[in-house]
Amino acid sequence: MAKNKAQKKRKKSIIGILIAAFLLSAAVSGCGAADEPAQTYELSDFDAFFDKLIALWQAESMISWDMETGGAPEGAMDAKAKTIATISAESFAMGISDEMRNFFKTVEAAIENEGADQITRSTYRETKRNYDKQIVIPPDEYKAFSELTAITPVKWMEAREKNDYSIFAPYLQQVMDYQRNVVEYRKQAGMVYDHPYDAMLDDYEPGMTVEVLEEFFGELKAEIVPFLAELMAVAESADGKNIRNDFLDRQIPISVQKNTSELLMNTVGYDLNRGALRESAHPFTLGFGQTDVRITTRYNEDAFFASFYAVMHESGHAIYGQNVGKELEGTILDTGASLGLHESQSRFLENIVGRSQGFWEGIYDEFMRVTEGYYADISLQELYEAQNIVKPSFLRISADELTYSLHIMIRYEIEKMILSDPELTAEDLPALWNEKTQEYLGLTPGNYAEGILQDIHWSYGEFGYFPTYAIGNAYAAQIRDAMKEDFDLEAAARALDFATINGWLNERIHKYGALLETSEVMAQITDEGLSAKHYIDYLKNKYSELYGLQ
Ligand code: ZN
Repeated sequence: MAKNKAQKKRKKSIIGILIAAFLLSAAVSGCGAADEPAQTYELSDFDAFFDKLIALWQAESMISWDMETGGAPEGAMDAKAKTIATISAESFAMGISDEMRNFFKTVEAAIENEGADQITRSTYRETKRNYDKQIVIPPDEYKAFSELTAITPVKWMEAREKNDYSIFAPYLQQVMDYQRNVVEYRKQAGMVYDHPYDAMLDDYEPGMTVEVLEEFFGELKAEIVPFLAELMAVAESADGKNIRNDFLDRQIPISVQKNTSELLMNTVGYDLNRGALRESAHPFTLGFGQTDVRITTRYNEDAFFASFYAVMHESGHAIYGQNVGKELEGTILDTGASLGLHESQSRFLENIVGRSQGFWEGIYDEFMRVTEGYYADISLQELYEAQNIVKPSFLRISADELTYSLHIMIRYEIEKMILSDPELTAEDLPALWNEKTQEYLGLTPGNYAEGILQDIHWSYGEFGYFPTYAIGNAYAAQIRDAMKEDFDLEAAARALDFATINGWLNERIHKYGALLETSEVMAQITDEGLSAKHYIDYLKNKYSELYGLQ
């Protein structure tokens, strides 16, 4: 997971309330008064404004990092949350301030006179997009929603623990109603969406639409669902391939796991001089611009490979963040282009490279050295195969590579219905969830924690977020195929030649940061747009070979 501004914003409940207070006071005092005397600005007049905005974001992130990685004492949590809320409210207010509006006018004039460079235009694109979306929501409704989503995660947790969906349902209903209203407000303000869910998708993956995703998930459904059934039939048959998995939960001392993390980070080219690894409840990457991109993992004695692949995944995010072009340092563009493109980088390193035979061949000797004999009886082939066992399961976060996007498809289809069918209520969702889980994974959840209450995202109103995971998987496969036209990726992985692999990614993706949009970056790599084909081919080839399918 890579945290962005939108995600950080959901973090502490109190933040939203303070933001709303700012919004309300701004509305009451009538900011942006039209009868102010016209004043002209230079673009450079806004340098200090953006420096301050970035400093506020970084200050907020730094405190979050401190809270999530065990730096802040337990007794300081409430006070820290309040500090974050104050900082966050200030940066939020700047985003819709007179000064921001003056910046827009100045850039628009400069564009007219062909005097705006690309950094300025992209900065405008990013800030204006956020401004336009935020400003159409009535402040009192935004305030109510902020107060609501201070409570919903708590209700979600309680419902999950008591296995009682009815505790959560009335709150989720209000979240659904709010997001449906947001789409309406945006439409009234002139924003055009072919499908109401497009408005939500655009918040996380700018420009992504239901039209594109229908085709994408349609192909995935048509190809992967039957393929999975075929694979499982073969795997479970008498002469089916028996992949050994008995060593995956071996007790491995944390010190050994830490040494392995070191080995991995150094091998894949994550620069620890501008990075750091700490521990947290859920692994994530947090970037403060290219000079400081940090990651976390979680160590469990009997889940060694969970940490192994968390480090690989987050290192993929971090390498992206560290290799943004130097000219973007200190701008708001010193970050990734979108969540989907970010996820393509983490999945590429974690799965396409990290779960490949070539990589395991390359890392094997060093792996055996750092793990101090704990896997001395396990062969290279057994290690490789065990990382690729396919087994449909209830939980998205522990899903294997083949079934992962099917979990996303369940969420995508339900979110789409929530936004398009006003009659659909929160009460209707568990049945839908179970039906789709049965259809795609052949399983029926036994309780809400392994069903509809497994993810916290909906309690924050994050409809449109999940598809970025599947988009990332698909982009990663498209990137792989483009890369393979330039050099032998499997051989590079075997040689642990990350200079070549990262060099290719730096040149085509990383260096652009958020200067270009994801569609523009991908257009330089493939002329197909988002395509399911490469992803499906990759999965089918890999798993057919692994399981000995014809
Ligand atoms: Zn991620």
